[in-house]
Amino acid sequence: MDYSTASIPFVDLTAQHQPIQAKLEQAVQSVIQAGDYVLGQALREFETAFSQACGTHYGVGVASGTDAIALGLQACGIGTGDEVILPANTFVATLIGVIRSGATPIFVDCDPHTALIDLMAAEKAITPRTRAIIPVHLYGQMVSPRKLLDLSSTYDLLIFEDAAQAHLAEREGYRAGSIGMAAAFSFYPSKNLGAMGDGGMLVTRSEIVAQTMRSLRNYGATRKYFHTDFGTNSRLDTIQAAVLQAKLPYLYDWNCERNCIAQQYDQLLAPLSAYGIVPIANHCGIGHVYHLYVIRVLETCPIERTLLQSALAELDIQTGIHYPIPCHLQPAFHNLDYQAGDFPHAEALSQEILSLPMYPGLQSDQIERVVSSIRSLLEAELGMTRLPDGSIIPSLIST
Ligand SMILES: *Cc1c(COP(=O)(O)O)cnc(C)c1O
Repeated sequence: MDYSTASIPFVDLTAQHQPIQAKLEQAVQSVIQAGDYVLGQALREFETAFSQACGTHYGVGVASGTDAIALGLQACGIGTGDEVILPANTFVATLIGVIRSGATPIFVDCDPHTALIDLMAAEKAITPRTRAIIPVHLYGQMVSPRKLLDLSSTYDLLIFEDAAQAHLAEREGYRAGSIGMAAAFSFYPSKNLGAMGDGGMLVTRSEIVAQTMRSLRNYGATRKYFHTDFGTNSRLDTIQAAVLQAKLPYLYDWNCERNCIAQQYDQLLAPLSAYGIVPIANHCGIGHVYHLYVIRVLETCPIERTLLQSALAELDIQTGIHYPIPCHLQPAFHNLDYQAGDFPHAEALSQEILSLPMYPGLQSDQIERVVSSIRSLLEAELGMTRLPDGSIIPSLIST
């Protein structure tokens, strides 16, 4: 097969798992031998290891990142009557978590260059009822810990990080998950640290929050058949914890690889800024763990974003859009009473963004092919508009 035309997937989990398959199988085997499928030994081990890796004290494994947010807010004492600030341009699970906790979600806009929550807009949204802010470390880049801590101490706000895309990310000396009271992680298979199914974790510095969380995930029981909280059934399976524990030693290297891939993309894409292609800005340096590598296709670009995406798909290059509709415009949440125009940066970004293939194992020549394909498409498009008969200038296509 000619490698230069082989399909380039958006994510390839096989590339990640195949080299460590024996270790993964052994991890699953050991749980089968122990037979402790729910709240087992491997779960406790992974909770300790992962919370330590995040630079915090306690970890409580739950069934998903969404549950880590919903139950985590509840464990922090946030609920009905409380306002919680979150960015409009996040994955819908952040919003679902806030609403499930009983709190009122208050959206704010994002910075158009980094796509991270605009903390000045957040400050303006604070009212006497505001209890917490959820910085979403979107795409793997952390929101500034220093600015968050300033805001939190000035207004007495609880910081609850949505770190679902930011395992081991770093900024200003802080690891994702260690800035505030608590943080939610997701182990959805394609996340930087992914299970073989669903999973999530709340990490926290507070023993009390951790204790409450352990109760909430286990029917609200502080001991067997004694229910002190209105809880649910949401535990991280022991088998999933064993798989995650087996993968954890590789996470740091995988993140470094993602960062290198991003640097190569940055370099190759730099000349295309003249065509209106600009990557989301990185203010986090090598602390950015690039869950996603996202470019903006600006209005000045000769090809509209969705057309570029389908043209790449025809060349067997898969891309994604994270996310095409901001939370405040999702039909399910129209009762929150937000309108188009409320968050101009989030809305504009939703039309511009395109996520390029990004996963450990993505090869240098594949990255080159992604970028050269984009360049060829743009130049062909420009060539077509230059000639009235619609023909393309050959020298432009072959570059
Ligand atoms: C993946 C994700 C979640 C939800 O995690 P699940 O494990 O899929 O429930 C929440 N927030 C963000 C930003 C995410 O990317």
